Amino acid sequence: MNEIEYKIHVDKIYEKIEFARKLFDSHHIVRIVAISKSVQADAIESLYNIGQRAYGENRVQDLIDKQKKLDDLPLEWHFVGRLQSNKINSLIDANPHLFHSLSSFDLAQALDKRLAAKSKKMDCLLQINSANEESKAGVSYDEAIDVYQRIESECQNIKLKGVMSIGAHTADKESIESSFRKTRAVFDSIDSATICSMGMSSDYELAIECGSNMLRLGSTLFPQH
Ligand SMILES: *Cc1c(COP(=O)(O)O)cnc(C)c1O
Repeated sequence: MNEIEYKIHVDKIYEKIEFARKLFDSHHIVRIVAISKSVQADAIESLYNIGQRAYGENRVQDLIDKQKKLDDLPLEWHFVGRLQSNKINSLIDANPHLFHSLSSFDLAQALDKRLAAKSKKMDCLLQINSANEESKAGVSYDEAIDVYQRIESECQNIKLKGVMSIGAHTADKESIESSFRKTRAVFDSIDSATICSMGMSSDYELAIECGSNMLRLGSTLFPQH
């Protein structure tokens, strides 16, 4: 794909997002985080050149490497992966704009402690395992509000901005929709929450219809890879 073809490809995605956004609410704003975990710096640069600023990685080392390679560009970096405890300090030092996948109270406590030691704060989302899948990280739907409030009251260096969820891993649209609606319900019941991060390449239109305001799009934004 040359630059013009690539722009046309990305514009088609924006049109679908725009359509779904209006179905939800004409005033609804949806942000896009391009998940660049499967591509190299040159692909990020191509997408940046047609206007995309926010990128997300799922490995701390990849985040650091790509930040370094692209540090001449004003990019906004997100972290969306599982955070192992031996990588907490590295993530803090990488200073992500938003950590989407804070997946348990224990992890929040461990992160909070290291943040305190470094006199730093971090904006985070609580990851909810809305479809209750073994393979996925995150707090269960039933305990999500409780854990959210405990983190807010006990972890002073973590700034919770909302919730994140990965849609049910199935081709069954109703199960995916149900997991999105549950996540949005948690979001709606927390007054201070402003970000509802859900929707990936295969399910982003549905996610928007269910109220997502932040998409994490990987493969569809990087088609040549
Ligand atoms: C890889 C990844 C995405 C993007 O997935 P695509 O299907 O490629 O759009 C979104 N969120 C998380 C947490 C991921 O790991």
